[in-house]
Amino acid sequence: MHEDHNALGVALGQKPTQPVTLVRPHAAHRAARYFLEKFPGLSMYAVKANPSPDLIRSLWDAGITHYDVASIAEVRLVRGLLPHATLCFMHPIKGSEAIAEAYHLHGVRTFSLDSLFELEKIVTATATDGVAATDLTLCVRLRVSSAHSKLSLASKFGIPADESAPLLMAARQAADALGICFHVGSQAMSPQAYAEALAQVRVAIVGAGVTVDVVDVGGGFPSVYPGMEPSALDGYFDVIGRAYEALPVSYSAELWCEPGRALSAEYASVLVRVEARKDDVLYINDGAYGALFDAAHVAWRFPTELVRDTPSRARTMGFSFYGPTCDDMDFMHGPFDLPADVKAGDYIEIGMLGAYGSAMRTGFNGFTAGATVIARDEPMDSVYGVTEATPAKVISIR
Ligand SMILES: *Cc1c(COP(=O)(O)O)cnc(C)c1O
Repeated sequence: MHEDHNALGVALGQKPTQPVTLVRPHAAHRAARYFLEKFPGLSMYAVKANPSPDLIRSLWDAGITHYDVASIAEVRLVRGLLPHATLCFMHPIKGSEAIAEAYHLHGVRTFSLDSLFELEKIVTATATDGVAATDLTLCVRLRVSSAHSKLSLASKFGIPADESAPLLMAARQAADALGICFHVGSQAMSPQAYAEALAQVRVAIVGAGVTVDVVDVGGGFPSVYPGMEPSALDGYFDVIGRAYEALPVSYSAELWCEPGRALSAEYASVLVRVEARKDDVLYINDGAYGALFDAAHVAWRFPTELVRDTPSRARTMGFSFYGPTCDDMDFMHGPFDLPADVKAGDYIEIGMLGAYGSAMRTGFNGFTAGATVIARDEPMDSVYGVTEATPAKVISIR
């Protein structure tokens, strides 16, 4: 893969006509080390946030051994890249064929579920010649509040804690290890989200009277974006660690987490070109059907920087973006802060797009991704206490 110092190097050197993805393996490495050193349990990467093989290999090299996969394609992808990784199939509703292939072909032993119907499906699909598997880790997904999070995951999956006793007891019978998992919603802005969810785990355990071997607090760990500045992640870990220690679980029980966003957000940014300007709206060459799905569909704001040889001295103002497709929906309200003199032909770097950015890209209307380049500078922002600011940028230290 081509390497460059930063976005300016790429803009000047290549004058790219398609959006360029700038990846920072060192940022992914740093995020992984932070979780591995500070989270009081096991950290697995939720592959859906960014399934890029280069990122997955970087996380493995940093020490991430467990991967949360949600489809058979993700199972095959990660197994193909990492023969020795532990894969956990954490989608509560799976096809029987996917379960069977994951178990019999790819060595997957951990599955999540939120109904007796799914439990039956897992037990049947993992049996060999009619004999039930004896090595399953089954994680019952509880429904918990997404009130502290920017993106809800509260309505689709999960069984309420006070209704979960029959399912927990049945899963206990079928499992070698029994887990309870949940997801507080993505970009949880307060550690309180986990404390409240773990209180529901207690309700479930006490109600069912079962021995629990795994408590999996899911994803939701935040990154930093304009207008969304969370407190430090180790504060989240403290709250989780204390609430976990107080749970009535087995002596040898394990605490797990499944960060997607937090491990991948700082990994990538995208360099786009301004094709036209109309007042405070910029027509750029990436958008809602590319890496900016969240900017368009859930009004997410991302940090932006004008990438020019001679920095602009104009005042900063807020812009909205139109993406390249012919669709009105290809609109990103922002506001995205840029110098007031930005014009057609300028390049803009859009930061913090490693999570749910390139993962969402489609080829709609013929607009596809351009090159991927390794950048050696720091991401535009960080939740991992980046201290060495590159000359071109100021990086907030937290
Ligand atoms: C999406 C998802 C994750 C990752 O969530 P983030 O908010 O990106 O950390 C983890 N676990 C499950 C089951 C998910 O669906």
